[in-house]
Amino acid sequence: MPRIRQLPPQVVTKIAAGEVIERPASVVKELLENSVDAGATRIDVELEQGGTELIRVADDGCGIAADDLPLAFASHATSKLETADDLFRVVTMGFRGEALAAIGGVAKVLLQSRPPDQPTGAELRCDGGELSAVRPWGGSPGTRVEVRHLFFNVPARKKFLKSVATELGHVCETITRLALANPGLHLTLKHNGKLVYEVPASAALPDRVALFFGGEVRDKLYEIDSGPGPVRLTGLIADPACDRGNPKLQYLFVNGRWFRDRSLGHALQEAYRGLLMTGRYAVGFLFLTVPPDSVDVNVHPTKAEVRFRENSLVYSLVRATVKARLLRENLVPKLQAPVDETGDRGPETGPTWDLRPPARPVTAGLFSPRREAAERAVPPWATAAVGGEPARAAGLVPTVQAEPRDPEPAPPVEPPPTAGPSPAARPAEPAFPLPPLSSGTALQVHDAYLVLETPDGMLVIDQHALHERILYEQLRRRVREGKLEVQRLLIPEPIDLPAEQAAAVLEARDALAELGLEVSDFGGNTVLLSSYPTLLSRRPPHEVLRGVIDHLVTKDRPPAKEALLDHLLATMACKAAVKAGDRLTPEEIAHLLHLRQLAEDSHHCPHGRPTSLLFSRQELDRQFRRI
Ligand code: ADP
Ligand code: MG
Repeated sequence: MPRIRQLPPQVVTKIAAGEVIERPASVVKELLENSVDAGATRIDVELEQGGTELIRVADDGCGIAADDLPLAFASHATSKLETADDLFRVVTMGFRGEALAAIGGVAKVLLQSRPPDQPTGAELRCDGGELSAVRPWGGSPGTRVEVRHLFFNVPARKKFLKSVATELGHVCETITRLALANPGLHLTLKHNGKLVYEVPASAALPDRVALFFGGEVRDKLYEIDSGPGPVRLTGLIADPACDRGNPKLQYLFVNGRWFRDRSLGHALQEAYRGLLMTGRYAVGFLFLTVPPDSVDVNVHPTKAEVRFRENSLVYSLVRATVKARLLRENLVPKLQAPVDETGDRGPETGPTWDLRPPARPVTAGLFSPRREAAERAVPPWATAAVGGEPARAAGLVPTVQAEPRDPEPAPPVEPPPTAGPSPAARPAEPAFPLPPLSSGTALQVHDAYLVLETPDGMLVIDQHALHERILYEQLRRRVREGKLEVQRLLIPEPIDLPAEQAAAVLEARDALAELGLEVSDFGGNTVLLSSYPTLLSRRPPHEVLRGVIDHLVTKDRPPAKEALLDHLLATMACKAAVKAGDRLTPEEIAHLLHLRQLAEDSHHCPHGRPTSLLFSRQELDRQFRRI
């Protein structure tokens, strides 16, 4: 019979550390939170080797009294709580008093601190739990913590650390969250001596968004504010056009603390319902302010989750506030009943092919200026000859530079160049009258679907899905045969990325090279793109690269190479294919239909959605009660 033993303190510390400290980013998170609690206005973070060798965090906060230094490393020692009741009105980031103890138990830590009102400071070392004596320290006011050789005494844990790039990525994410939550805070991050981020105190939230996620996101933001109340939601949401392939750009904060919450992520998605395709995610930075006693922040070891006293109230507030804001931009789903003030969705009407008038009065959303403008757009026949720019840009219509090994027969003649792309310059008369509707050609409707007659009935093709399929097959074939034609850029293109993405791109360098995307490290968070597949020729190269990044950063561990290649092919095809909304010229339509016949599987896009629907003659006859 095994006997029960009290575990020695070092083991207890390691167990506790196991919950809180998983990787360098966890250390950075705890140290940053301590600095914020100390009232710091500037925090500098330095890392070596993704933080596995060294993490140094220096702040200008309130410091620690020399006598208290040893206590800082003791478990359950904190200056932030006094009574158990305080646990239910936490206003600081930390409160459990276990972070420094945990870090000190699994690394070699040097803690140096000087309260601003003291002439000198003091320092103390903690090596795997062993404390040194307190010594004087002559640094400037504030606190510096140096953490070296993380997990030096826990080899099992060390083995779980990922590559430098991955660990750096996690740290960047931690810094991003903290920087978004603390406007007015000056933050810097250096990695191996190179500056990765510098967030000035003056950078407001939109500037911070731009800094971490790029100017394209910043330019599409709408401010939200639910107005004063016991629970208040403020922040920024992005236009649906800014959607992503994963929910990573959905940031939630409560009382300045980042947290994750599937239900609130769902509330955000619900607010965008009808504005995003399936599998696409909204971008939003949501800040909740609630009375401290109405949220429990002590429910998760790393405080990554919280519990609201009134969960459903918060859910409705998020959904309604975001939805109302989208409505103000006239961004309501086109096939849904109008949204009422509370933000609740009206009865599900679905796509109405019965032509009865809608049951509810139609409001702004359905007849918005934007929509009217769209409806007043130049009719298809007027632009048939010139509207195909996007399609040509995507390489749908082969040009003289088409690859010599192209298995497709001679390309159709490209229409003559026309006036500039501005709608005003478009000729009113069709230069290429639409050919009669017959097999081999098709009618484009809503700039999205091609309708054509087949011997069995009527076929409706999703132009994007089909083109995506065709490009995907061409790319895959050429990659397999090692014949992918690659175009070298005369001047390699520097592409600025969020640090985490830059790291992921460089890590997937080999797989990307097989796809003709050659990338190299340009320093900072910039990668240099020096080639791209000719097949995707006229889509801007950086756009093709950005298109594949989403996938690289979704998965925690790097995906298997085959799966990665396949996914990247599909993503590249998707990025480069004509979109719904692209007007096609008759030549482009004919070419697309021709390629369709050569495709191995012309029925499904690479994501498995159908590319076409057949309405059989019989079905039509039956619907019209002919039989
Ligand atoms: P907690 O943050 O939960 O209190 P920690 O182990 O992280 O626990 O820190 C223990 C104590 O050390 C804190 O309560 C605080 O008093 C002090 N401390 C830690 N870091 C700093 C810092 N950067 N500036 C000032 N005081 C600090
Ligand atoms: Mg702490």
